[in-house]
Amino acid sequence: MTGTNDSKHYDFIVVGGGSAGCAVTAGLIEAGLKVALVEAGPDYGAYTDNHWPADLTDARELANSHDWNYKAGRWIFQRARVMGGCSSHNGCIAAVGHRSDYDNWRLPGWTGNDVDPLFKQVTEAMRVRAYQPSEAGPFHAKCVDAARNLGWHIASDLCDLDGNEGFGLETVNIVGTTRWNSAFAYLDAVRHRPELTIFDQALVNYFHEDNSGVTLTLTRNGQPRALSGDQLVLSAGVYGTPEILQRSGVGDPALLRSLDIGVQVPSARVGTNLHDHPMVHADRRIGAGLQSWLNEASRTGFVPEEQTLGKAVSSLASDGLFDLHLFPVFASTQTSRLYGRVHVEVACMTPKSRGSLQITSKDPQAMSSINHNYLGDDEGHDLAVLKDGVALANRLLDEPALSSLLGESLTDTTTEAGIRKHVEHYYHPVGTCAMGLEDDDVCDGRGRVRGLQRVSVADASLMPQVPRANTNLPAVMIGMQIAEFLTA
Ligand SMILES: Cc1cc2nc3c(=O)[nH]c(=O)nc-3n(C[C@H](O)[C@H](O)[C@H](O)COP(=O)(O)OP(=O)(O)OC[C@H]3O[C@@H](n4cnc5c(N)ncnc54)[C@H](O)[C@@H]3O)c2cc1C
Repeated sequence: MTGTNDSKHYDFIVVGGGSAGCAVTAGLIEAGLKVALVEAGPDYGAYTDNHWPADLTDARELANSHDWNYKAGRWIFQRARVMGGCSSHNGCIAAVGHRSDYDNWRLPGWTGNDVDPLFKQVTEAMRVRAYQPSEAGPFHAKCVDAARNLGWHIASDLCDLDGNEGFGLETVNIVGTTRWNSAFAYLDAVRHRPELTIFDQALVNYFHEDNSGVTLTLTRNGQPRALSGDQLVLSAGVYGTPEILQRSGVGDPALLRSLDIGVQVPSARVGTNLHDHPMVHADRRIGAGLQSWLNEASRTGFVPEEQTLGKAVSSLASDGLFDLHLFPVFASTQTSRLYGRVHVEVACMTPKSRGSLQITSKDPQAMSSINHNYLGDDEGHDLAVLKDGVALANRLLDEPALSSLLGESLTDTTTEAGIRKHVEHYYHPVGTCAMGLEDDDVCDGRGRVRGLQRVSVADASLMPQVPRANTNLPAVMIGMQIAEFLTA
């Protein structure tokens, strides 16, 4: 914690220093406001202080040392518990989706034209760049050759609101070999300001709003603490934000009563509309030649496991726009479950299935009930898109530029049963506190929680529909836009 005076009254309290939370905090500080930023995980300080653990800054592999350990059945839903949130342990793939994704939200202030300039600022702050052909590792260079041979358009910029079908080297927020998280991108510029107090390792339980402000109840070092402010911004992420709302009595009255929580605001849709891009893979065993080539390259240089991405249009796409991501990946360490094989991961980018999250207790340490309902949509849309995608992934793997380096297939995902058995998630859950224009939407079009006067949401839970993109840059964009709204 850089500041201990929690008897102060803040203009804003921001809960969650994640992808969006760092951006919204910086925007509020730049506007001259007094802000408390409360984060459950540790804050390792500015990038230049050099205190960040190596796994969080090494962009070659996903990091898993700072995780909330969300689980349901066979599923693990990774979420980072550290300053920077999931941007501090994620894959650093930088994408924005298609302009029409935002037009489809049908909300003033969030159209493609509205978000375009914000994304330009986000990509600059997050230091987004495309891998250059000279940086492509041996496997990914062959993937580009195979895609070209299949007649796929080879794209040089995959982080483009107007781009459609294409295959190419990925755009990433990696500086040198460093995962450039949103704390480095946004928080470091305002850390030294006297208006900012950071409370790290502080688990927020609930809040209460009244005419004089908002009081936040949290636990730090085992001690209950309270903070007070004029306004509250919830940036605790797609699981954390609805959990805090529900514990605070904002949610489905039947759920709240069953847990003996007083109803502050009846809002039945808190925690609903949970969705992600469902994902499945086609695979092949790695041939001996490619494996020794990869081992040697990994020993001698920076060889990211993921470097290429394809956007494709399935037969289900009614708007003619890409609804599939395909990305080849291998493992560089022998301990990885991927070692010895390559996957082409296939994700449905326009999912129709919807699930939900409900807390199971007043206790902030208790595991919530999370049901993502993957492939659960009545029309079978998500499954059908994946089936098309798997067929394309197999064509890519069977193209001689790749097949000459690979062995046999190990997992059958060509059938509906195979896809259902092996479906995974793409780490992009959104939508549990969605904004919209209807009275029963959890938040209004400016992120304000309906039924409250002083509480807003700024994170991926606000998205009514997931864009056709990895969700880090969209979450950061939301943080910037909500800060604009709050300071206008
Ligand atoms: C393993 C993994 C890989 C991914 N790869 C990519 C990728 O390559 N590219 C991409 O674009 N996206 C990727 N994503 C998705 C992307 O990182 C997320 O969509 C994005 O970071 C979400 O931002 P957010 O601000 O909504 O939430 P988060 O970044 O999750 O931030 C929420 C913050 O709130 C804190 N918090 C939660 N509850 C509480 C509480 N009760 N009290 C105090 N603090 C709390 C958390 O600790 C966290 O710091 C990946 C995600 C994961 C998990």
